[in-house]
Amino acid sequence: MRSESSSTAAAVTEQALVRAHALASAFLQSLPERPVAALPSPDEMAAALDEPLPEAGCDPAAAIDEWFARAERGITASPGPRFFGFVTGGVTPAALAGDWLASAIDQNAGLWASSPAAAQTELVVLRWLKELFGLPADWAGALTSGATMANLVGLIAARQWAGRQLGFDAAGDGLAGQPPIPVVSSTEIHLSAVKCLGTLGLGRNQLRKAAAPGGSVDIAAMATLLREVAGPVIIVGNAAEVNTGQFDDIAALADLRDAHPGGAWLHVDGAFGLFASASPRFAHLGRGIERADSVASDAHKWLNVPYDSGFAFVRDAAILREAFAAGGAYVLGNAGWDPFTHVPEMSRRFRGLAAWCALKAFGRQGYRAVVERCVDNAAAFARWVEATPGIELMNPAALNIVCFRILGRGRDEAATGELNRTAVRAIQGDGRAFVTGTVWNGHAAIRAAFDNWQTTLDDVALLQGAVADVARSLSG
Ligand SMILES: *Cc1c(COP(=O)(O)O)cnc(C)c1O
Repeated sequence: MRSESSSTAAAVTEQALVRAHALASAFLQSLPERPVAALPSPDEMAAALDEPLPEAGCDPAAAIDEWFARAERGITASPGPRFFGFVTGGVTPAALAGDWLASAIDQNAGLWASSPAAAQTELVVLRWLKELFGLPADWAGALTSGATMANLVGLIAARQWAGRQLGFDAAGDGLAGQPPIPVVSSTEIHLSAVKCLGTLGLGRNQLRKAAAPGGSVDIAAMATLLREVAGPVIIVGNAAEVNTGQFDDIAALADLRDAHPGGAWLHVDGAFGLFASASPRFAHLGRGIERADSVASDAHKWLNVPYDSGFAFVRDAAILREAFAAGGAYVLGNAGWDPFTHVPEMSRRFRGLAAWCALKAFGRQGYRAVVERCVDNAAAFARWVEATPGIELMNPAALNIVCFRILGRGRDEAATGELNRTAVRAIQGDGRAFVTGTVWNGHAAIRAAFDNWQTTLDDVALLQGAVADVARSLSG
């Protein structure tokens, strides 16, 4: 029976959703034309939004309206086709619809018993992702909040494995008093994986790094490094490196893993590069990933689903479960798959629905086309950089990231660095396209990453226009 108050609640909900829908539709329609970003200062944002906790409440539809009006200046068009900063995906129509529905049905995707639909959907999404990337069907996995947490899941499994090799239970008994677990990578390891080493008690500063001239690890240097490490070791490979999109030779790292006397675990950070495997044109770049022990990737980048979403795969399901086993009579003993036994969290968002809808609506062919279009756009932009006087390509664009800089015309290194940092801010302020800065080979540089499913060559032309105008006005 429906009480009067529940029918009122339903009407209020409906009104709030109608407002949210109107705001969302207007935003999405504005994306192609909207300035990508004109970042307000922290003071401006605080002036727009900061206030004490309201004493009295208000109508939900009015709340969502007010928030949008006050926050809008700080909303970037990051899901749009001209946001080339960091490594940023957009949102496909199916993914957005799925994500909205996930909020409305509000399932707890941590336990089978709280939502068999969510748990089974996640299993299917993991299956489809393995099929998309040619990974072994029997690998365990889970959805995460992003590649940082996916790196954490893979490295937790690695730590558990290494402890077992050394005769202890890392998750159960802790690391204190035990022999250290060495970790090796290239100098270009992503900061998120380094963060994980701190979280895991392996120590950010204990990481040993091999040189990676050009972005890809020097395999001979890695072999030398491994010879200095006696016992079991964790190898972190890049597929790909975030500044210029270069891949480590994962097959060669797998060979080193196989040959290491004390045993080794190969973890691959494939946050965006794993998607090369979705296209026969680029799958060779990630050759050997299927030989890894664990793989981390992002869904909110190249899968183009909303934040936050990533995924991790681990070859040895038993070691992963052992790392997260924590008992708990009130939650265990269900019939089906409990995702919380594979990830750090317990209760969690139903991320699988957005990913399921996205994969269903595009299919293998659709994702292959997205990846190839993005790489073709990156290649077109890289060719333009090379052909344009006064701008220099910093490294070949291996996949979907182009790293370049404006030349200093007689300026020294420090002044050229300042010129490029200023250029990043100027391009961002221009509003046609959004890029971010980095340092490559000791030089301040500019990056453009191509991950958005909607970006066209017209958008690339707008990016070129913004870069050319800023370069002309600054380097004069
Ligand atoms: C983006 C990225 C990460 C971190 O992913 P989040 O989704 O931001 O947690 C890790 N590794 C690489 C190579 C990345 O590009």
